[in-house]
Amino acid sequence: RFEGITMAPPDPILGVSEAFKADTNELKLNLGVGAYRTEELQPYVLNVVKKAENLMLERGDNKEYLPIEGLAAFNKATAELLFGAGHPVIKEQKVATIQGLSGTGSLRLAAALIERYFPGAKVLISAPTWGNHKNIFNDAKVPWSEYRYYDPKTIGLDFEGMIQDIKEAPEGSFILLHGCAHNPTGIDPTPEQWVKIADVIQEKNHIPFFDVAYQGFASGSLDEDAASVRLFAERGMEFFVAQSYSKNLGLYAERIGAINVVCSSADAATRVKSQLKRIARPMYSNPPVHGARIVANVVGDATMFGEWKAEMEMMAGRIKTVRQRLYDSLVSKDKSGKDWSFILKQIGMFSFTGLNKAQSDNMTNKWHVYMTKDGRISLAGLSMAKCEYLADAIIDSYHN
Ligand code: PMP
Repeated sequence: RFEGITMAPPDPILGVSEAFKADTNELKLNLGVGAYRTEELQPYVLNVVKKAENLMLERGDNKEYLPIEGLAAFNKATAELLFGAGHPVIKEQKVATIQGLSGTGSLRLAAALIERYFPGAKVLISAPTWGNHKNIFNDAKVPWSEYRYYDPKTIGLDFEGMIQDIKEAPEGSFILLHGCAHNPTGIDPTPEQWVKIADVIQEKNHIPFFDVAYQGFASGSLDEDAASVRLFAERGMEFFVAQSYSKNLGLYAERIGAINVVCSSADAATRVKSQLKRIARPMYSNPPVHGARIVANVVGDATMFGEWKAEMEMMAGRIKTVRQRLYDSLVSKDKSGKDWSFILKQIGMFSFTGLNKAQSDNMTNKWHVYMTKDGRISLAGLSMAKCEYLADAIIDSYHN
């Protein structure tokens, strides 16, 4: 029986943390998982989160089950953060929002809805993308293929390729888009390019599917990072948006996020919501309350909301400073004349170094720098003090 079960391979991202833990070298550096660290490389709990938690304790909030769709105050707050409080799609109640188990669980709910109501429809995902996207759609039995995104020659966006592949996809495909701070490349379309992307998607009757895991974390501004999503909402399109509070509120382990389905009428939104609940019920019954209360409290209180924004700017700012320092270190140490400016053009938590698998292996085996094998490093796990060491490791690995 169980004897016949074979060993599963380690997860390409979370497996990196396990390998890091097992390494005893003191120079070791974990740039694998995308989790914010302080300059001392310690995990960071936002002050505003502690404040909200204290309030929750003082009030003696209970631990009763939430409804299947989650905490109402959270669902309201999360949709408003995404679209802006006065947005017509919200006023006209066209958005079906249900709380999910962070970004991953929310994506999984949407995938299940696609599998049930759009049988055979394909999801197009960027090449490359966050490793778990493929797992999620495979698990939900939703067929997917890739659209061109990253151009290794320019270490930039292959915009022509992207547009062509979206154009050539069967009508009515789902197009998975990273709302901001594309993972793993850190390369986002420009505002003008977003307009063209929306044009072809509309032309082909495709359905956009946004994954927003970094709102406020890319630019430091919640509104700026939601611009792509809002552009599509303005056009009256129907689409999905999965949200996560892992990064921007540092609530990784609380598993708090949401799936939003923008529909063409309030009536359709009510029906879609009922189906999402029906999918959630046999999977996990109802979502956890703690993170939902934190988000609802922080967003619902003007002072705490302001404090959150300040802390988010601080985190985004630290990552930008480290990015600059890494670039400066590379430029001053590398004598090969290589152009490192792509590092400064990338945004968000990650840098896509362009290191291939063998070179990434060298980073780990020789330099004890843990990273994903696609060449992605998390700058959120880097300190100013470690930039020179990392630059040495990268230069050595590149020229090997
Ligand atoms: N989408 C993308 C693109 C991500 O980078 C992440 C976090 N690594 C997620 C979704 C979801 O993470 P979580 O389930 O922790 O919210």
